[in-house]
Amino acid sequence: MQRITMKWLTTIFGVMIIGLTLLGLVSYLVITNHYQSDAELQLINQASTYTEMLKDNFDPDELKHFVGTEKNPASNVFLFSPSGKLLLASEAVHKAEILQLSENLIRDTSNQKVIQQQVGPNKTKILLARNPIINQGTLLGTIVVTTELTWLENALGSLQMMLLLAGIGAFFVATGLGLLLSRNIVNPILEVGKTIEQLAKGNYGVRIAPINTKDELSLLAKQVNRLAESLDYYHSSRKEFLSNVAHELRTPLTYLKGYASVLHERMLAPEMVGKLTYIIHEQANRLEHLVDDLVTLSRLDEEQIKLKKEKMNIGDLLQKIVREMTPHGEKLGVKFTVKTPSPLYLKIDPQRFHQIIINLIDNALRYSKEEGTVTIIAAKKSKWTMIQVIDEGIGMSTDQLDRIWERFYRVEKSRSRHTGGSGLGLSIVQNLVHLHGGKIKVESGLDWGTTFTIHFPNHDDLKSKSEVG
Ligand code: ADP
Repeated sequence: MQRITMKWLTTIFGVMIIGLTLLGLVSYLVITNHYQSDAELQLINQASTYTEMLKDNFDPDELKHFVGTEKNPASNVFLFSPSGKLLLASEAVHKAEILQLSENLIRDTSNQKVIQQQVGPNKTKILLARNPIINQGTLLGTIVVTTELTWLENALGSLQMMLLLAGIGAFFVATGLGLLLSRNIVNPILEVGKTIEQLAKGNYGVRIAPINTKDELSLLAKQVNRLAESLDYYHSSRKEFLSNVAHELRTPLTYLKGYASVLHERMLAPEMVGKLTYIIHEQANRLEHLVDDLVTLSRLDEEQIKLKKEKMNIGDLLQKIVREMTPHGEKLGVKFTVKTPSPLYLKIDPQRFHQIIINLIDNALRYSKEEGTVTIIAAKKSKWTMIQVIDEGIGMSTDQLDRIWERFYRVEKSRSRHTGGSGLGLSIVQNLVHLHGGKIKVESGLDWGTTFTIHFPNHDDLKSKSEVG
């Protein structure tokens, strides 16, 4: 049996035993007192009746006759003369002993008196009531009435038996309760404990079977299961992240190694050397880009990036970024349109803002078709400043849209890798927007184009994460 069950059982037993003992003791005392007082009163009344009778007419024979007509066989009557001579005696069971006690009792003639004594080998309890018979100041004699308390003993015996039976009953009730508690409370707690132990050992697939009660235990089980799910998720996403990182690093490294060894081992035409060194440079750039992105993401995760916010004319900033990107766009045959009021002031971290917009424009160019246009719109609303980057490119389907914020997610891996994408850009953009206290959403349709919309808060009461933290 589990230790906690043992503790509960012991507690229940303890409480029941103490309760029953107290109850027994109190009932024993109450019943004894009640019946004994009752018996004493009856005896006193009986003695008083006889005394009244004898006071007017001190006739032992008449008393004998009267006692004979009485219905209480348990009581005995003894009449003594003032000198202590026995004038009348009932046929009592322990007559000699009772007489002895009575003689001791009548020596004191002062008042009415009741005493309790034990007689015979079985120590039978008896009550003795003594009354002096006094008429006009003259002591005529003393009457002693006795009664056995056997019935009271029997009643108390039955009470003890009942308490014993109650004790045995309590034992079974306590055992039953203990087992019930063990099944309904202890076992689920142990189950929770085992699950947590498994989680600590790295076994994140474990779950607790649902507990069909609506109490704290089922809540605890649900919370542990939720914790297990989170750990499971984080563990598998960490594994996936690491394998993605390894994979992303391996590709450019393979290129670098291969082309470097060709350059090293073979005598190549200068034209070929130029081509290969260009590829090596491209791959090194890609590696650098990837490592930068990874560093940014890890710093974002650890909340190490603190924004340096300034009030900036973002209209100007957007125009500047577009100017930077125009040569790249021209190479791809894509035009830019910018619609922004100037000036348009907003409190942002200019470096991070630049990073957000460059990423979105870079994607818009990368996934645009030739002759396409990339439109950048900025507008100020009461609480928010909205920025949109709209392209007329290949677009995405709805199920692809749900996943684009995931790290390393690329709609079409080979194409995106070919265009230099690692699948980290949007994750960084989303984190940086949130860090500014903003929101970002995307709308897209296959072959129709894509629109990214960002809302930055205008007011200081919409504080960004970095400021709050
Ligand atoms: P990548 O560096 O591969 O572009 P991102 O995180 O920036 O990574 O984007 C994730 C994926 O979302 C991309 O691989 C691409 O498939 C898709 N995507 C992003 N922007 C666009 C866009 N403007 N049009 C179409 N697809 C896009």
